[in-house]
Amino acid sequence: SSVPAWDVAPAGPTPAYDLGAVRRDFPILAERVNGRQLVWLDNAATTQKPQAVIDRLAYFYAHENSNIHRAAHELAARATDAYEGARSTVARFIGAASADSVIFVRGATEAVNLVAQTWGRQHIGTDDEIVISHLEHHANIVPWQQLAAEKGAKLRVIPVDDDGQIRLDEFGRMLNDRTKLVAVTHVSNALGTVVPIDQVIAMAHRAGARVLIDGAQSVAHKRIDVQAQDPDFFVFSGHKVFAPTGIGVVYAKPEVLESMPPWQFGGNMIEDVSFDRSVFQQPPARFEAGTGNIADAVGLGAALEYLESIGLESIDRYEHDLLGYATQAMRAVPGLRLIGTAAEKASVLSFVLEGYRTEEVGSALNREGIAVRSGHHCAQPILRRFGLESTVRPSLALYNTCDEVDLLVAALHRLAANVG
Ligand code: PLP
Repeated sequence: SSVPAWDVAPAGPTPAYDLGAVRRDFPILAERVNGRQLVWLDNAATTQKPQAVIDRLAYFYAHENSNIHRAAHELAARATDAYEGARSTVARFIGAASADSVIFVRGATEAVNLVAQTWGRQHIGTDDEIVISHLEHHANIVPWQQLAAEKGAKLRVIPVDDDGQIRLDEFGRMLNDRTKLVAVTHVSNALGTVVPIDQVIAMAHRAGARVLIDGAQSVAHKRIDVQAQDPDFFVFSGHKVFAPTGIGVVYAKPEVLESMPPWQFGGNMIEDVSFDRSVFQQPPARFEAGTGNIADAVGLGAALEYLESIGLESIDRYEHDLLGYATQAMRAVPGLRLIGTAAEKASVLSFVLEGYRTEEVGSALNREGIAVRSGHHCAQPILRRFGLESTVRPSLALYNTCDEVDLLVAALHRLAANVG
């Protein structure tokens, strides 16, 4: 029998870590779906949780649970230590000089809204300019659009080239003394483009603008060093980095945080209250009104420690090779058009398949136990840039294998062969 063309891809990449052991760390990967072994390729939507995170949550509720900061008893001390320990882990993981620069929020969406409603309302005025890119997720578009409308400011958009990379030359021409903020994603959730943030940050700073980097799609794949890379704000969601849902982070430079007004008001963020006036806490407490998501913050700390134990550089290298392997294999599927072909990409393979609606491809893959996202990925402007309303989007993480990519590609070949 003849060997199909797609079956002769070069032997796949192997990571510098023990892939089998890593897979065993994630119990859900043993799940069966529609009678098949689960193939989880929806990591850009959310990532699976290692046993270390699941155990850490259970331990917190079994041995440490209390509200933090207030009560002077043993469990309050344990819970506070666990929560503040997680803050220190986040700071170390992103290279922040101080844990006080780390604010816990619900996720990247809340993080961008916090920055827009505090720093943004304070610093953006009439005729000022906010620059975003054409790649942005709705979470890094709409808060700025609303703020611009409220303030009479202008929202400007860095265009992308046909490969889905931002046009640095156009960006350079956009910057002027009215540019107050540049808010761009590190990695595009719809195309996988890795934006050259070091250059974006340097260019924006030369123009006197602050920079927010949306790290929602990068933090599980690329090493971040906020001191070396120098963003003013860096935001991400825990659930996209193997941590629980409902927890995320705003990092901001100390001098920026210091002058930022609070967003929400209530307990925890207060130093002193009378009916005439209130005195607010220093950061980060000033930005954490009310009882936060204590256990899941602790879970986030455990997730980041898990990643540190494997090594972000090893993960990045393996995923880069796996993405190359998958890209090459998918290019050989007849009628498959890859969307997003930038030289630097991470995790994401977005595509459309001739003869099929994207939901049909998603459903067909699901019948074989393969989980991918199909839809607009909350990034409608960038899909429309490519004439589309929707794509199919497999996305890779540290635990994915060449075998899983082969299963995906084989299923796509079968679909392609059945058209007409
Ligand atoms: N930014 C990017 C690039 C994303 O991919 C996402 C989620 O898909 C978000 C922001 C919003 O994250 P969350 O829904 O966790 O708040």
